[in-house]
Amino acid sequence: MSQTQFEVHDPEILAHAREIIDAARNGREMQDAVIAAVKRNEEWRGQQCINLLAPEAPTSPTVRALLASEVGTRAAEGHIGKVNRWFAGTKYIDEIEALCVELLKKCFRANYADHRLVASMIGNLTVYTALTQPGDIVMTIAQPYGGHSSNRLDGPAGVRGLKIVDVPMDPIELEIDVDLFRKMAPLVKPKVVALGASMTLFPFPLQEMSGIVAEWGGKIFFDGAHQLGLVAGGQFQDPLREGAAVLTGSAGKTFSGPQSGIIVWNDPALTEPFTTAIFPVLVATHQVNRVAALAVSAAEMIEFGKMYMAQIVKNAQALGAALEQRGIRVLGAHKGYTRTQQVIADVKPFGGGLETAWLLARANLVANKNLIPGDTPADWDTPSGLRMGTIEVTRLGMREKEMEQVAEFISQILVKKRAPEDVVEDVIEFRSAYQTLYYNFDHGIPPR
Ligand SMILES: *Cc1c(COP(=O)(O)O)cnc(C)c1O
Repeated sequence: MSQTQFEVHDPEILAHAREIIDAARNGREMQDAVIAAVKRNEEWRGQQCINLLAPEAPTSPTVRALLASEVGTRAAEGHIGKVNRWFAGTKYIDEIEALCVELLKKCFRANYADHRLVASMIGNLTVYTALTQPGDIVMTIAQPYGGHSSNRLDGPAGVRGLKIVDVPMDPIELEIDVDLFRKMAPLVKPKVVALGASMTLFPFPLQEMSGIVAEWGGKIFFDGAHQLGLVAGGQFQDPLREGAAVLTGSAGKTFSGPQSGIIVWNDPALTEPFTTAIFPVLVATHQVNRVAALAVSAAEMIEFGKMYMAQIVKNAQALGAALEQRGIRVLGAHKGYTRTQQVIADVKPFGGGLETAWLLARANLVANKNLIPGDTPADWDTPSGLRMGTIEVTRLGMREKEMEQVAEFISQILVKKRAPEDVVEDVIEFRSAYQTLYYNFDHGIPPR
């Protein structure tokens, strides 16, 4: 390897992979190394961990099977229908894709939906491509308040050449400061205001804000990456009915489908700009196996979404309360902790988000470090917050009572200072009773 080679990845981990490949006698042994790593993850994360990552959802057995289906090897680009595609042989693919589009519309009670976004990042770039020109001003939420890179300078919004002004936030209420927004926004007249965030505990004042930006023809864009399932299940605000022009989101967060993106809107005038930004600008082949899996996830959401999403929120509130009772400060405690799947703890007294996340992972409790209000860009790598979510524990059939136990495990390590290695066996034992994924047509709803 040349001296000047530059890698962003951890060089030791790459070197270890090279050692394995160099030691392999043939391609088969290289394959075996990959499969063995996948299997290790499946056993550990899939069976022995309490996964509390807020953006993570286990998919149903049917969705997983579809991800490996034959149709995933077929090329289909363009819009649905004979004259709209480059390739022939797509009659059944058209059927699959049309089912997906119509199921998504039904799920979100929307006039239009697109199924081709291989990631929600690309959904956000679709919005900026369609609704802005380089140099335009947009208002988005800064990262310490949960804003996502896709709407900031270091992501798609920045790549589009947009000027970014922060949406003013109230650090105590963890909500938008609407009074300040009413004063600020007319000064810069943003074309687009992006709401929705990676750290979202409470709803946004969409109606008020869309009234404000309407004065200069501005649009509200709701990036519901995290809240998409909650919206579909009717357990969060309904952005398209409250003034947002467009809703994007991740199919693999609360929506619990294959990791990818969704975009829905109501105004026919936006159909051309959005769909031509998607094809031919941002996606060509768009993984039809994933589209089939997404369609089934939408059907699951239509059948089970209300019950599943309501339990996710109840579990998050229970987890927040149980942590607070054990001496771990939880944001938004004065307003019931959360109205989403997320629970945000201030773990600065326990060594900060990075330290605690890696400590807990040694006991098979998986969460992530998170910036919280008060953190500065200098705290980026070592922020004060720990973000947890209740999607997976809920899909495994846990309810409020089990959240007490989960909080107890966390507290034993952070508050009572027990070594993670002394707690991990109890975590594995507890988790062993929860191995079935519910809220789907394979296994129905969890037993009481
Ligand atoms: C996760 C996230 C995204 C990116 O979603 P992907 O599906 O991972 O591409 C965009 N916006 C917000 C607010 C997010 O939290």
